[in-house]
Parts: sequence; C-alpha cells; structure tokens
Amino acid sequence: MSRDCLFCRIAEGSERADIVYSDPDVIVIRDIHPRAPVHLLVIPRQHLGSADEVEDPSVWSSVMNAAVRVARDMGLCAGGYRLVVNCGAGAGQTVYHLHVHLLAGRIFQWPPG
Ligand code: AMP
Ligand code: ZN
Repeated sequence: MSRDCLFCRIAEGSERADIVYSDPDVIVIRDIHPRAPVHLLVIPRQHLGSADEVEDPSVWSSVMNAAVRVARDMGLCAGGYRLVVNCGAGAGQTVYHLHVHLLAGRIFQWPPG
C-alpha cells in the first residue's frame, strides 16, 4: 500500500471509485474517462508499479481471472471485449499501479493506435 498511489487508496477505500467487483486480491472499477461504452480497470490490491515489476505469476492469474469473470457476468463475451495493459509512458501508462483495461461495447480497430 502506497499513500502516494491513487489505485492503492481506491483499493483500501480511502478514495472513492465505482467498484463493480471485489475479491481478496483484485478490485474492478469503472474508468473515470471511459474510452468505450464499457471501460473497466482490473486492479490487483498489491502495489506493483507496472507489468514490468511483476515477479509472481499468480498476480496475472488473479487479475486475468477477475477480468474474464466480470466480462462473463456482464454478458460482454457475445459482442467481444478487449484487455489492454499499458506498460510505461511510451505505451500510454499514466497511473503507475498495475491495471488491465477491460473495454467493450463498440468495434475496436487493429492494431491499436
Ligand atoms: P493508463 O493510462 O493505462 O495508466 O490507465 C489509467 C487509467 O486510469 C486511465 O484510463 C484513466 O482514465 C483512469 N483513471 C485515472 N484516475 C481515475 C480515477 N480516480 N478513477 C477511475 N479511473 C481513473
Ligand atoms: Zn498502488
């Protein structure tokens, strides 16, 4: 837990967010600036600055399982959804606490911009 980290404060409950799923390892919140009709952030409770800092593969297991579970529960599979991890400033990362974007509800271009 880092007091300086927005997603740590949200996970701990000291900062408000629209939480759509929560378990002992992961929270899922609505993105405050949605880029698609459904735009969620799948966030491990453990502070890791980016994908580059992950050593324990069980972090990915928790995060990706939560993402797929929420997508199923929200009925997103039929229309398709996209999972995105921005790692580092060059890839567009702006919040340095690991998270996976879950985007759905529109057609997505490939490759991403
Ligand atoms: P990234 O640019 O990949 O690091 O993604 C960070 C995401 O966090 C962006 O899509 C932001 O819109 C989102 N974001 C920033 N602050 C908040 C907040 N307080 N609540 C929810 N989402 C946020
Ligand atoms: Zn953090």
